[in-house]
Amino acid sequence: MAKAGRQSEKTMPERDAIVVGAGFTGLSAALELVDAGLDVLLLEARDRVGGKVESETLPDGTRVDTGGQFFCRDMSELMGLIEENGGTPVMTHYDGEMIYRPPVSPQQGFARWQGVDALRDRMIATDPDNPELAKLTVADWVARQDDVADDVRKSFLRLIKGLWCRAPEEVAFTWLASNDRRITNTYSEMEMFLPGSLHALADQLAARLGDRLRLGTAVTGIEHSGTSVTIMAGNERLSAKRIILALPPVMIRRIPFSPALPERLQKALCAWAPGLSIKLQVSYDKPFWREHGLSGAVMWHEPQGLYACDASHDDYAGLIVFVGGPEAQEWHKRPRAELIAFIREQLSAAFGPEGGNPRDIHVRDWVDDLWSGGAYSDVVIDLDARHAEDIITEGIPLIHFVSSELSPSYPGYVEGAIVAGRLAAGQVIGSRASGRTKATNQ
Ligand SMILES: Cc1cc2nc3c(=O)[nH]c(=O)nc-3n(C[C@H](O)[C@H](O)[C@H](O)COP(=O)(O)OP(=O)(O)OC[C@H]3O[C@@H](n4cnc5c(N)ncnc54)[C@H](O)[C@@H]3O)c2cc1C
Repeated sequence: MAKAGRQSEKTMPERDAIVVGAGFTGLSAALELVDAGLDVLLLEARDRVGGKVESETLPDGTRVDTGGQFFCRDMSELMGLIEENGGTPVMTHYDGEMIYRPPVSPQQGFARWQGVDALRDRMIATDPDNPELAKLTVADWVARQDDVADDVRKSFLRLIKGLWCRAPEEVAFTWLASNDRRITNTYSEMEMFLPGSLHALADQLAARLGDRLRLGTAVTGIEHSGTSVTIMAGNERLSAKRIILALPPVMIRRIPFSPALPERLQKALCAWAPGLSIKLQVSYDKPFWREHGLSGAVMWHEPQGLYACDASHDDYAGLIVFVGGPEAQEWHKRPRAELIAFIREQLSAAFGPEGGNPRDIHVRDWVDDLWSGGAYSDVVIDLDARHAEDIITEGIPLIHFVSSELSPSYPGYVEGAIVAGRLAAGQVIGSRASGRTKATNQ
């Protein structure tokens, strides 16, 4: 007995759990663990929380989301969190006509989008085990749908490029179909947003963690043996009974593991590529487009990869312009002034001279972001990696790999991050309870 006691004292881990990454996944996991009474530490590389949800204060004092922002009533975990924390969402303004570039009639535009919706339904209905689909890219699959009008197929490809920020010629079809099966909203995913920023909600969650949260603490290595885990962060070595790595796959694979992760897990992590996106906040004195019966939304077919929508609220007038996919990578390489001039030109062509003359344009370039790798989400581009998600989610003893990308619902969204974080925490809490039951039974 005495010997066993000494041994457990020597190997006693410092904490019940360490969570790495204070995006919505890590924040949700850490809070769940704290609520269950566990001794938790949350480590975050940046000097702020929120991960891909972040904000900036514009010259006029308005706090705007430069990362994740929108949500809808179907996203119940996020809606619940907003309500608990006293947030009041505003509805995104969609009344009025959408602009298509190059122009098409509203009827043509509507018919095209109905066709795109039907094609998405067809994709979702495909058999995940059909071997004929296993090695296809999204572009390959779309090319096979030859009973569908050409402009609908092209619009579908542009939509995928805009949403997942990679070329459809490289995105794995079976991954996209599986991903989209889990995105089940009936209301537009951009239905609403928080005027004070979604990032403020991340700050509120972090405040509940107090000194259990350490900012500016990048994890630079992990040692694991199957019975213990040690995390290297700066000069410190931190140990815990369980680790939740709340990081997207492209960021997990940057951390050196000792011993190295099993080969199949390394391959599964390497199957992902980061999204390529730039988000611009274009501020005006007033939402002038509404006076012309326009919604503020612009769908560009040429140049590709661009989309705009109204993000005004009572105290602010502005549009958001998203640049997604290979075009974002091209703009990432060029001087920012050129991108701003290009966006002015595009907005002027869409809305007239007023559109090209905003008060301010704020650019947030997420391409190659130091601590995210990219945005909005990682996507699978290895056509041989059909089970990549399952392999990563399985994890290794004592270490859970988790992020929005790996969520059973709304992967790639903030809602998905909350669901994934809470699930991982539930597993840690469950393992602790089953450990206690075993000890009592012995
Ligand atoms: C421009 C943009 C627009 C978006 N729009 C929307 C939207 O409107 N609606 C929506 O629902 N979603 C949107 N998203 C996606 C959404 O923001 C993400 O899906 C979600 O926030 C991901 O959360 P996460 O916690 O899984 O990952 P992340 O937010 O990436 O969090 C991971 C955290 O880990 C930290 N980290 C990384 N490496 C280390 C390390 N070695 N050590 C310690 N910490 C580390 C990072 O700094 C980060 O804080 C958008 C994203 C972007 C960027």
